[in-house]
Amino acid sequence: MSLALSPADEALRDQVRDFLEANVPDDIRFKHDTIERQSKATAGWVQALLHTRGWSVPGWPTQFGGPGWNAVQQSIFHAECARVGAPLPSQFGPIMIGPVLYTFGTQAQQQRHLEGIRNGSVFWCQGYSEPGAGSDLASLKTHAARDGDAYIVNGQKIWTTQAHWADWMFCLVRTDAEARPQNGISFLLIDMKTPGISIRPIISIDGLHHLNEVFFSDVRVPAENLVGEENKGWTYAKFLLGNERTGLAGVGHMRALLSHLYGFAKMLADENEAFDLDGALRQYAELTIRLDSLEMLERRALLAAEGNAQRLAMPLKLMGTTLQQDISQFGIELAGQGAMPLANTGAPGRERGNEADLNISGPVLMQHYLFKRAATIYGGTSEVQRSIMAKAILGL
Ligand SMILES: Cc1cc2nc3c(=O)[nH]c(=O)nc-3n(C[C@H](O)[C@H](O)[C@H](O)COP(=O)(O)OP(=O)(O)OC[C@H]3O[C@@H](n4cnc5c(N)ncnc54)[C@H](O)[C@@H]3O)c2cc1C
Repeated sequence: MSLALSPADEALRDQVRDFLEANVPDDIRFKHDTIERQSKATAGWVQALLHTRGWSVPGWPTQFGGPGWNAVQQSIFHAECARVGAPLPSQFGPIMIGPVLYTFGTQAQQQRHLEGIRNGSVFWCQGYSEPGAGSDLASLKTHAARDGDAYIVNGQKIWTTQAHWADWMFCLVRTDAEARPQNGISFLLIDMKTPGISIRPIISIDGLHHLNEVFFSDVRVPAENLVGEENKGWTYAKFLLGNERTGLAGVGHMRALLSHLYGFAKMLADENEAFDLDGALRQYAELTIRLDSLEMLERRALLAAEGNAQRLAMPLKLMGTTLQQDISQFGIELAGQGAMPLANTGAPGRERGNEADLNISGPVLMQHYLFKRAATIYGGTSEVQRSIMAKAILGL
């Protein structure tokens, strides 16, 4: 398989590049380049902008309002977003729940929810993990009891990214406590404004608020919000996790960050003749080679038939997140003492580089490094991925 683009793919790349360069404002691009977090308003604005071109759900088929792109076209789009400095569409709607709804949802669910995901007006969060049910997800205890035309939900979720932004949660609940754990789980769509839901923030090691605990106390969820069949939620949950792990590789963003770090290393060498530029460039080359091979794997995953795609999703997540951590480490090693102190918002103490287009700063590199420690935990830990691969791929 070659990384070279066909003339048609080159034309798509130029079309995406021109549109993003003309329409994504500098403040959003600056934040992206400095790897600072985007706000909810920005994320929604970019999603709406992409929607005007039919690009807001790049992995979806045309039948459901997507562009119907093949794997190569999707990776071109992701790479251009990263290169131009446009945030990618959110994981939770476009990558996770959207495909579950158009594959397993009722027509009414599709009509109600798909448009809000496409146009960026509705945010979703993922209610899977609980205290005591992370890697061992099937042991989850949040309970839903049928009561007439509704389920009554009680329990707790944890590590819920962007629950404080979300309008809706897709949530795994136990509907049969007697069955084998995997067979007693259902998949519910829960309106986050429903009485009985409370959210408590968790501040992570980077000093920011991404994560939350979510508590359910007698939350009444209409039975029409059940996806698929009762007690079959594990099937939909696994389908979704396969997509999540593919999306977590983050090739385009790594490529953009590496290119900024290359500029950063050159700038440091210009400023200080004792700086070990050869050593930095060797590390840069090694990371770039690993990224190239990851990109090939990602294309294979996107092109593979469903069963194989699920199998490739695991090594992709494992290799992608490890590489993200190694690139973030390269960043703070370059910045050295400049990576301290950790700035709470990313802004204080920032010094822009000498080159006009180089916005990387030490404290934000440190913030990024600290957040990336979680990359080998969320979406399934590396240890668990290795165990599954040992069984599924190597047959051990
Ligand atoms: C930044 C971040 C964002 C997240 N966002 C979300 C979200 O939006 N929604 C959501 O539902 N969840 C989210 N999570 C939760 C995430 O999915 C869990 O943290 C993850 O599945 C691990 O579960 P745990 O934290 O309970 O750790 P545990 O499962 O308790 O694992 C603890 C340690 O034991 C190891 N371990 C566990 N079981 C095995 C085994 N069988 N073999 C070998 N080693 C094992 C693990 O690898 C790990 O090192 C997020 C987590 C983080 C850090």
